[in-house]
Amino acid sequence: MEEISVTTGSRIEMLDITSQIRSAVSKSGTQEGVCTVYCPHTTAAITINENADPDVTADILMKLNKMIPPHKNYRHLEGNSDAHIKSSLIGNSAQIIVSEGCLQLGTWQGIYFCEFDGPRSRHVWVSIK
Ligand code: ZN
Repeated sequence: MEEISVTTGSRIEMLDITSQIRSAVSKSGTQEGVCTVYCPHTTAAITINENADPDVTADILMKLNKMIPPHKNYRHLEGNSDAHIKSSLIGNSAQIIVSEGCLQLGTWQGIYFCEFDGPRSRHVWVSIK
């Protein structure tokens, strides 16, 4: 397993981590297999979406904040319930096929680390089998 460090700069943001995952795949030497990208945090997530137009991630975050506003009558005393809910909705992992040593992503796809309670130092675990 490989561990990737991610530093986020805002409370809520989507960071493109595709190049770090590609590096982990080539370092592993795996030619055919599956790459699992896992987020070990309860207020962050992993997703795959368009990395060509930055307005796509801006729209995703805008809509998530509209559906799950930061300040509501949540019970969790830490005050970050919206981040926990967003994390569960998006999910904490992604799997990508590895073929001929390359991640099999669509032309417009990128792998994103989604921060919902930053800024923080975070980790992503990557397993290539
Ligand atoms: Zn919490």
